[in-house]
Amino acid sequence: MPELPEVETTKRYLEKKIIGQRIKKIEILSPKQFIGDPKQIIGKKIVGLERRAKLLIWQLENDLFLLIHLKLTGQIVYHEKLAGKKAVFGHPIPFAGGPTLPGKSTRIVVYLDKGVIFFNDLRKFGWMKVIQKPKTKNQKDYLKLKIFEGLGVEPLSKDFTPEYLKKVLSRSRRAVKLVLMDQSKIAGIGNIYANEALWQAKIDPRKPAHQVKRIKPLWQAIRKVLKEGIEYGGTSAADEAYIKPNGSPGQYQQHLAVYQREGKPCPRCQTPIKRIKINNRSTFFCPQCQK
Ligand SMILES: [Zn+2]
Repeated sequence: MPELPEVETTKRYLEKKIIGQRIKKIEILSPKQFIGDPKQIIGKKIVGLERRAKLLIWQLENDLFLLIHLKLTGQIVYHEKLAGKKAVFGHPIPFAGGPTLPGKSTRIVVYLDKGVIFFNDLRKFGWMKVIQKPKTKNQKDYLKLKIFEGLGVEPLSKDFTPEYLKKVLSRSRRAVKLVLMDQSKIAGIGNIYANEALWQAKIDPRKPAHQVKRIKPLWQAIRKVLKEGIEYGGTSAADEAYIKPNGSPGQYQQHLAVYQREGKPCPRCQTPIKRIKINNRSTFFCPQCQK
């Protein structure tokens, strides 16, 4: 599932490509995945891109926003060469090693002046949504909209401090891994980066949150793995669908210490990595050096 680094990578790539372009046409192949009236945003210029938690936010003219959530298997792929042409199913593979587009899992196609955005989603949990910002003076006020309510702090912002992390952990008896993944406390961390951060900080993912003593190392580890994830263009793990908007995979899977490395040696102490389930999600850790 795309997490903060994957959505951030998508945002940073698209920022260089689509700002200033207008939305010319939208083809919706899976109606339940487009919420709102697509006609509202036809002809509108894209003026900015933002990310909040795992949400990608396109800011459009006239205070309109197109929100995109990739959920489990969503992909955003941008292709410039198809501009002006009609996207045809079974089109030859536009990227070396990338997907055929539009393909069987293409759900929405957004035509811009100079290129085409493909929203692919095998499992169909992802969505696009048009919202109108209420009239306010403050540019960032749209982040107060209902859809953003209940989202916790951004872990790479200055609001995320060791003190905040301590407060959040001390109030919960749940497994520390679940608290890290709780979007209402810290926004953007999912299964991959929770596993990696806990390994980095040498903390057992099952440990009740209020018993965690290594707060500062965990705080540092969270920021480290997220920053590295962004640096490497996200994680394209074996069974996950994330790819970068240019159709190529991210590279962070080559740097993972524990995630999907069951049975392989811990990079720190060589003990085989163990896989267990916490709340039905696969959890990977080193039984030797994570306490
Ligand atoms: Zn170890």
